Amino acid sequence: MPELPEVQTTVDGINAEVKGKKITDVWTDYNSLFHAKKDNIKNPEYFAHFKKDVVGATIKRASRAGKNVLIHLSNGKTILTHMKMTGHYMYGEYFFNGTMWKPVPKSGPLLDPYNRHIHLIFSLADGRHLAFADLRKFAKVFIFDTDSEKRIEDLMHLGPDPLSQEFSYTLFREQLLKRPNWKIKPALMSQDLIAGIGNIYSDEILFAAGVHPVSIVSKIPEAQFKKMFKTTVPLLKKGIDFGGDSDSDYRNIHGEPGKFQNKHNAYRKTGEPCPKRDGGTITRLMVASRSAHFCDRHQIKY
Ligand SMILES: [Zn+2]
Repeated sequence: MPELPEVQTTVDGINAEVKGKKITDVWTDYNSLFHAKKDNIKNPEYFAHFKKDVVGATIKRASRAGKNVLIHLSNGKTILTHMKMTGHYMYGEYFFNGTMWKPVPKSGPLLDPYNRHIHLIFSLADGRHLAFADLRKFAKVFIFDTDSEKRIEDLMHLGPDPLSQEFSYTLFREQLLKRPNWKIKPALMSQDLIAGIGNIYSDEILFAAGVHPVSIVSKIPEAQFKKMFKTTVPLLKKGIDFGGDSDSDYRNIHGEPGKFQNKHNAYRKTGEPCPKRDGGTITRLMVASRSAHFCDRHQIKY
């Protein structure tokens, strides 16, 4: 699932490629009975309103809130996209073949199998498209009045953002200690405590800090708390510098994979020797129904 670095990479891509462009049409084949009556484009009735709101508007800029992409429009509306498991936006030239949308170019990254399965596409005034690929179709997309951002359920409970000015050691510790009896891995991933961290980066943060994923938050010593804080921001920035993580479906605005998956020390390295050469082995364990990967030697359980 895209985490802070991948979502930021998409936001930067939208700002670089589609900012200032006018939306001339929008199409979707998301349609789910489960979402009937819900404020989500998977409900066809809602999509009809969504279409009225976006067609004719210009994309002012994109921003990120936790793992959500926000696309702000010239008409005072904002489109929220949570990419969930497999969603990603791409900019390029597409055509509709009567059944599905396909890229016009006959070669290049847009033809990557991970970039098929276009389920939402905005036609732009430059003749090109902002296309959303989503193999598993778990993404969430809806529109709201930009000035009501603070009252949107999906945004109002988000914890502090690690890349924001306010993010300090004191705040980091204070937020995690709101769940003193939780295991550290799910606490780091809890969006209401700290926004943007998921499965990959939590594994890498805990590896770097030498903390076992099942350690109880309140039992972690101050020194290890400081190590976790010190590794969090650099690791997330490293993820952005490497263009995000494409261990799974994530691709950037050009349909290209990122490279952070080549930098993992722990995530999905099960059975490999610890890169610290301490004699430990990377081990996989289910923690709060997610798989944690950690070194069984240097990551200490508190
Ligand atoms: Zn180790």
